[in-house]
Amino acid sequence: MKAILIAQKVKSGEIKATDVTKEYLRKISAKDEKINAFLEVFADSALKKAEEIDLKVAQGRPVGKLAGVPVAIKDNMLYKNHKMSCASKILENYISPYSATAVEKLLNEDAVIIGRTNMDEFAMGSSTENSAFKNTKNPLNEDYVPGGSSGGSAAAVAANMALISLGSDTGGSIRQPAAFCGVYGLKPTYGSVSRYGLAAFASSLDQIGCFTNNPEDLELAFSVISGHDKKDSTSLDAPQERKEFNIKTVKIGIPKEHFMDKIDAEIKKEFLSTVEKLKKLGADIIDISLPNTAYALATYYIIASSEASSNLGRYDGMRYGRTSKRADSLISSYKLSRGEGFGPEVKRRIMLGTYSLSAGYYDAYYIKAQKMRTLIKEDFKKAFKKADIILTPTTPTTAFKFQEKLKDPISMYLSDIFTIPASLAGVCAVSAPSKNKTENGLSIGMQFISNHFNEPTLFSVIGMLNNE
Ligand code: GLN
Repeated sequence: MKAILIAQKVKSGEIKATDVTKEYLRKISAKDEKINAFLEVFADSALKKAEEIDLKVAQGRPVGKLAGVPVAIKDNMLYKNHKMSCASKILENYISPYSATAVEKLLNEDAVIIGRTNMDEFAMGSSTENSAFKNTKNPLNEDYVPGGSSGGSAAAVAANMALISLGSDTGGSIRQPAAFCGVYGLKPTYGSVSRYGLAAFASSLDQIGCFTNNPEDLELAFSVISGHDKKDSTSLDAPQERKEFNIKTVKIGIPKEHFMDKIDAEIKKEFLSTVEKLKKLGADIIDISLPNTAYALATYYIIASSEASSNLGRYDGMRYGRTSKRADSLISSYKLSRGEGFGPEVKRRIMLGTYSLSAGYYDAYYIKAQKMRTLIKEDFKKAFKKADIILTPTTPTTAFKFQEKLKDPISMYLSDIFTIPASLAGVCAVSAPSKNKTENGLSIGMQFISNHFNEPTLFSVIGMLNNE
């Protein structure tokens, strides 16, 4: 059932939030032993919240837009008095002292937060295999990865163990797992959702967004989590109202640089059929150019790693989380706590970032990447003068098997080739799942990108396509 309907029924008293919560807790115990989407299920606090909601309904008091809806959150968002580990040993037993603004907003609208989901350690990765704790399986076919880094959140919704989940997207971590697991995933415009209480990976790119099974719930979830927050000075109020929408006046741009020859045949087929559908509906399909796309991946990995090397400096074994027991001096405590606490991918990024920011290489790498980022932003600015929406596949391949890319970081990084440009430009994008599945039962995602704060147009288009 849709989240929107559950909330209505709870509100009207037709069903009880406690019954919905119990049903979802049952689903999780039945399925998650195999799927491993959750790192922890918050059964007690979820039931307590559900009881509060039922009491409000019984007393005739108003309840929120998400009344009784089971929501899962990625393990990099603070939820007061609950653990948050970023799927890392360094934060294994860390307890949140306060709640992230997005989490607070969910609770204010009476969502029931059902658990925290598995992810790549500190959101670095594309398969969730970088989690220090476990591998999450793709619910569509358990031999395959769910994508990443928000793989647990995507899998939780795909396996119907939550109706909405939150993820974070720095270079594709919502859109890519949404595509792999066959659900909707929104990366909102940078700044439209507060990052307060989200463990920072690369602050100029990180953005909280959501996963759902249908476009209506995606719009609902976004309306709840977005908005200006005085605790995050980069946040602002995004327009929520749908504008007058007529597909016949919409221009859909197809970037000619998107290496159509390098993508899987089945993805190409789905892409071309989506273009055909849009044409039939009356949309105007036009060619656009994003000439600097070829440099996006390199630019992203310099900028994201540089910011990560600085952001992760705070995990020194003193202030947060784990302290090595083997240390006999302050310096050895730093070295051992970080050495034992971080996994290989996180260490790789810290080294890459520290190198790019070092005095001798700063101009050659970091500054160069910043200049390139500006050019990529300009590309989008120009493209959006012609097109309302840019359409690309979300990923160049469908989900891959466990271990397939783990040994070769560069091939893993290539998973995000289509999602990273929009992240660098800070614009909004959504991945919508194909209706048809591949021979292996896997899904294909299409990415719709729009200009800053143009989420309402994205919702209109994916809603229309879903009704086709
Ligand atoms: N896969 C990309 C990376 O490893 C994106 C991660 C993300 O969006 N958090 O950096």
